[in-house]
Order: sequence, then structure tokens, then C-alpha cells
Amino acid sequence: MADVTLRHVYKVYDGGVRAVNDFDLDIKDKEFVVFVGPSGCGKSTTLRMIAGLEEITAGQLYIDGELMNDVEPKNRDIAMVFQSYALYPHMTVYANMAFGLKLRHTPKDEIDRRVKEAAEILEISELLSRKPKALSGGQRQRVALGRTIVRQPKVFLLDEPLSNLDAKLRVSMRSEITKLHERLGTTFIYVTHDQTEAMTMGNRIVVMKDGFIQQADTPITLFEDPCNLFVATFLGSPQMNIVDAELFMDGKTLKAKLNDHDDMIVSFPDIKAKQLASKDYIGKKVLLGIRPEHVKPGVGHLKAYIDVVEHLGDESILYTKMENRKDQFIIKIPFNSKIRANVETNVDFDMEHVYLFDAETHKAIMGIPHEDAMPVRINGNVLSLGDQDMVLEDEFVSHLLDSAFNNDVTLAIKPDYILLEKPMKENETPFALKGNKLSVGKEEIEIDSKYLPHFANGLENVPLCFAIRPDAISLNENPEALKLKVKVEDIDRPVVEQPAEEAPVEAQSKAQAPVTIKFSVKGLERPLVMKTLEQVALEVGQEVDIYLPYEYLEIVRDGHDVIKVSAKYEFVEQKTDYQAVYFSIKGIDGYFALKRPNDEEIDLGKKVDLYLPYAKLKVYDLDNNKINSRETVFENRGEAVVTRSNGLMHIKVGGATLTYPENPDYPDGKYDIVFKQDKLVPIFNRKMLKNSDRENPEMSNPKNKIKVYAYDEDVLGDKIAVYVQVNDFEKYATFVVKNNYSVYKMPKFELYVPEDGFILMPKK
Ligand code: ADP
Repeated sequence: MADVTLRHVYKVYDGGVRAVNDFDLDIKDKEFVVFVGPSGCGKSTTLRMIAGLEEITAGQLYIDGELMNDVEPKNRDIAMVFQSYALYPHMTVYANMAFGLKLRHTPKDEIDRRVKEAAEILEISELLSRKPKALSGGQRQRVALGRTIVRQPKVFLLDEPLSNLDAKLRVSMRSEITKLHERLGTTFIYVTHDQTEAMTMGNRIVVMKDGFIQQADTPITLFEDPCNLFVATFLGSPQMNIVDAELFMDGKTLKAKLNDHDDMIVSFPDIKAKQLASKDYIGKKVLLGIRPEHVKPGVGHLKAYIDVVEHLGDESILYTKMENRKDQFIIKIPFNSKIRANVETNVDFDMEHVYLFDAETHKAIMGIPHEDAMPVRINGNVLSLGDQDMVLEDEFVSHLLDSAFNNDVTLAIKPDYILLEKPMKENETPFALKGNKLSVGKEEIEIDSKYLPHFANGLENVPLCFAIRPDAISLNENPEALKLKVKVEDIDRPVVEQPAEEAPVEAQSKAQAPVTIKFSVKGLERPLVMKTLEQVALEVGQEVDIYLPYEYLEIVRDGHDVIKVSAKYEFVEQKTDYQAVYFSIKGIDGYFALKRPNDEEIDLGKKVDLYLPYAKLKVYDLDNNKINSRETVFENRGEAVVTRSNGLMHIKVGGATLTYPENPDYPDGKYDIVFKQDKLVPIFNRKMLKNSDRENPEMSNPKNKIKVYAYDEDVLGDKIAVYVQVNDFEKYATFVVKNNYSVYKMPKFELYVPEDGFILMPKK
């Protein structure tokens, strides 16, 4: 039983290698999650951090809600199976499996029970007295698994456990491990570089590249809806064909010219054309993807020259050449011995199954997107999205970098995170406060002035709600509570059976089940729910006073934690694991998508409110750099003193003296200085430059440097935000610099301040 949560986890090795970046994932209890990606993408490092074998550089790891960062590996209740399963050669299988438990001083009969049980699960009971050398490779691997099963861990970590086995054995062990997962009902995290292993074993696959998660989803969704070119070509065998294409409109039909060849034109069916992320792609060069199994030879008007044919039992693979194209174009068809090489053939694309990718970002631009992206502008705390303006929560605004404001930016969110219902806390109830009168529905309640501050909560001019736990509501008079006149709508008394003698424990727990009462308040839609273990003598329809203790009343703003966006359902496409629902937003070109369960009825044309949780929102600049950070962003403001000598101007700030040509705008005196976020350049010391391809930027005056001490960083595309302490500055400063090093291993460095890197404001 274990949930595993990774929050913004980073691993930076000594020397500054960034192995894992901003790894954010929730693994649910009993899930079988596979990390897959090419060698060096950070899979093992992530697994080793979960196991506690590698220190987590930044971010948090939780197991069952408990922070694990500093918990010893042996206390994490995790077992790890490695690729090289070293069994003790002089011990029997039984002794090998019992060894770990013996070390932990587990009682003998308990060891015996667990070893025998594990042996049964793995079907190696008859091998218990053998030594490892008398076992086959597969049997040894099973013993290695048995060694971990006997420990009854909460989580199993498996690091390429099958890669030392021969191909045939690998296939059979694959299904053994899947079965084992089902039998144990434990969380499994499995690392492999083999896409077939990933596709056949996981409930969910996390595709990684260069230390970043690319996409995490079910095998089918990854295959049907890859979020980018990398995922599209990594999964599937033979891999997806990628063809140069240029999109254009022919009347009302979206078409693509392939390989820059006038005779190679394909037309998109309407349902596909509608899913193009933006009309801006029309007239542009894009990449078109089609899997080999979605190309039909012998029909259609496209031409391909068959170079080589491989007949593989149940299928035939055709390696072909197309005009104006260097790479092979691969076609997969059911076995057909009549197909021969060295001839030209017509081919046809199944256009229901084509993919489009942005030629530069390689993001998927047709179909359900990895992230829904909406062009927005943010001015102060107001977000403009199409025709809608909304006030943003301060917490969100304080995490935005300077470049987010008064610029064309993109608001993005993964389709999985969009909600169709407003998330509400328990008993969330709107109220209004006028003077010392609180209105709840149609009820007006006078509040003692000493309790008034409780309701204001510093939030002015926004609709507010209170929330309270059902078990905090009481029928007992209480001067320290809000008294509310209500009517009993419903009482749910759990059935208490006469405690039977043979089952006293169960009967007791039933007697402990709380009574649930629903109260209505005049003018309110939702009832208030109370739960109590006390006997209550109430009847449905009765009017009573209930007491909501101030200490349990939480004040929140209406629609907290989410942005509400008005939209309209436009069209739906059925997928295997979900239905992709596309909606439009007034004033914005293109469609946005969300995933809904297959069986949900969708009312096309209907208006709908979408709720976007702040915690899942990202903001990008037009260069695709993320510009909302995990950390609060402060203005980079401090004090400076300007003096001059020999026609030069000196600025004393943060323990440094910066020297620039004389500027008459700034007479000698005290100033407030604000450093611009994106203009300062880090200078590396010799140690940082050693063994790396980093170099210091060339600059005319390397003297103008200021010492800083960093405490965190945030990867934002090809830039990073670094949060640093500047001498004498009250608050941390945030600088955006090139992403070619990490502050985690080198927190002390200098920033070069160019002449246009700051603003001076005279002190009043
Ligand atoms: P994978 O398991 O996906 O093959 P790893 O997690 O082993 O990838 O490695 C990710 C990156 O971290 C690679 O660039 C690798 O060279 C680097 N790396 C791994 N271990 C260390 C280490 N102990 N010291 C420095 N760099 C390392």
C-alpha cells in the first residue's frame, strides 16, 4: 500500500551534470509505472532517488504522504531489484531468500512462512534447496525477486531487471512480472530502455529524455496521442515515418504538400482539420507523421519505390524510397508473400491516423495537445483571455517573472487537469459582510465586533465563502461560534445492530459511525452537512440553531484555487481510453481540448464553465520559456550610492562597486536600484569551468561584478531562473540566465552587471 509522489525533483551530480529536472509525478497505490527513455535520460537516477541510494538535490519525495528526502533507505519500506542480481553462490535458494530477514532479526517461523509463500508465488518451491549454480537464468532472476518479496515492501523498484536475460526468457519474464504485480497488489516502478517492455507491462508509462519527463500516460494514449515528435518516434515498431509537409487550404479542405513535391498532396478529413492547434500553421512548413501500419501499398496516388521487403511471419515490412526524400519510408502490412522489392508502387495514407508536429518545437499540433495553450495578456493582476478578463490570485501573480506582464504570453494547462466543476471545500458557503452584519443566504447574523477581522481575511472586493468540517458543527450553544438558523432536511442514522457476542469489535465500530444531518439555510442552494457521534433528537423539518465555531471557520474566496473560463463544446473524438472533447473560447482562434470518460454524455453547442487549477497552470513567453516559477519572485530592489571620479560614475551596491561612464542623469547621492531580471550574466570561476564546455562570456568590462549566493533554481526551457541573495538586499532576487549550469552544486558565483542591467531611482 503506497502512493509515491515526486514534487519538482532535481538531481544535479557533482560537476554540474543535470540528470533529472523538475520531475513531477503522482504514482498511485498499486500502480505499475514504467520509466522509459534512451540511455542517459535519467531513469535510473530517479529510481535511485526514490530508493534513497542517491541524494535528492532539490524537490520533495513523499511515500504515503510522508516526506522521505532524509529518510534512510532501509527505513523507506522499499525494495529494489537490479539488473545484476548477485545471489550468494554458497547459499541455497532458501538461504538466499531468508538472508535479508535474518539480518533484520525476523523470528525463524516468520521467515519460514514468508520464504515459502514467496516461493509459491514465484513457482520455485521445488528449487528451495538448490544452489544458484544449479538454476537457469530465469530461475535466478526469480530468486532475486523472491529476496525482495519476502521483505513485504510498500514499493517495488525494478531497474532493468530483465536486460541480462536472453530474448526468449525476457518475453516470458515480462508476463511473470506483470502477474506478480497483480498478485502482490503493490506499487511497482520499473525502469527500462526497451519500448516493448514498457508498452506491454505498465499501467502508465513515463517517457523521459535529457532528464525531463516528456509525457506520462497509459500505453494506448502514448501511442494514439504522443505529445511530441520524440514520444511519437520512440514508441512503435517500426517507428513512425516523419515527412516534411506544407499545409494549405483548398477551398474548405485542409491539405498538405509532402516532400515539397507538387504531385504529393494529401487531404485531411474534416474531423482532423478541425483539430489543428492554430490557423497560423496554414501556409507553414510542419512535420507530418504516419505509422507504417497506416500506409496502404497498391492503392492511392502517392508513389514509393520498394527497396527491400522483410517477410516476418505474420507481417511484411516494406522499406521504400520517395521522391525528394532522403530517409526510408516504411510500410507495414499483414504478411503478403506476393509483394516484391525493386518496383514502384502506389501508396495511400490513412488520413484518420496522421499526426502533425511543429517543425521547430516538435510539439504535436493536431489532436489532443500535451498542453492546451491560450494566448493571453497579464496586466497587473488582471488576465485577459479572448473576450474575458479575470482577476488573478496574488499568490499566482507573485510567481510570475517580469516578462509575463504586458506582453503576449501563453497560458497553458494539461488537458487532464481541466475541471468541469468548481472544486469546493467541505461546507463551502458564500457570505457577505456589511458593517457587522453577516448575510448567509437570506439569513442575517450580527457579529460581535471582536470576531469581525476573522471574516475579512485581507481579501477585499471579492466574493467570499466560509468552509467548515462537518464534525466541527455543533448543536450546543457556544458564544465563540457563528449561530445560524437552519432547517433539518435529512438525517442519516447508521443502522446499529444489536452487538452480537461473537463479533464485539465490529459491532462497536458500527456504533461509532456518525450521524449525518443535512441542514438547509434560506436562500442557499447547498445544504450544510454536520456529522456527530452524539445522540441527536432532531426530526426532519424541524428548525434549529447550529453553531459553527470561529476557530474552525476557514475563509476562502469564491472560486479559490482555480481560474474560471467560459467556453463552448464544439466537437468530440472518441479515443480508446477517453473521449477528446474540443471547445472554443470567445475571441480566441483554434480549439482547446479536455479528456473526459468515454461514457460521459457531451452536449455539443452547450456553454460550459471550465475551471483551471492555479497549481497546474503554466505561463510561457513567445520563445516557449516558462515564465511562472515555483518560487515567489521579488522585485530585485536594493540601495545604491552614486559617486564619481575622473569622468566615471561609481555605483556602490551589494558590497561591490560598479563603474560606468559618467551619466548626468544620476548626480551623486543615494538611490534605489532595481536589477533587471534578464540582463545579468553569471561569471564562472575556474572550478566551475573545469571539465565542462561552459565558458565565460566575452565582455569589455569584466570588473562590474556582484557577488551572489543562490538558494534555488528553476528550469525554464533553455533558460533558468536563479534565486539569489545579494549582499544588503532584504529579499531574494530572481535572475533569468542561460541554462548551461546549475546553482545546486555551485551556489556561490558572480553576476556581471552590464550598463543596461539596472534602473536607478533617486531616494526621496
Ligand atoms: P539512464 O538510467 O536513463 O540511462 P542515468 O540516470 O543513469 O540514466 O543517468 C542520467 C545522467 O546522469 C547521464 O548523463 C549520466 O551520465 C549522469 N550520471 C549518472 N550517474 C552519475 C554520477 N554518479 N556522477 C555524474 N553523472 C552521473
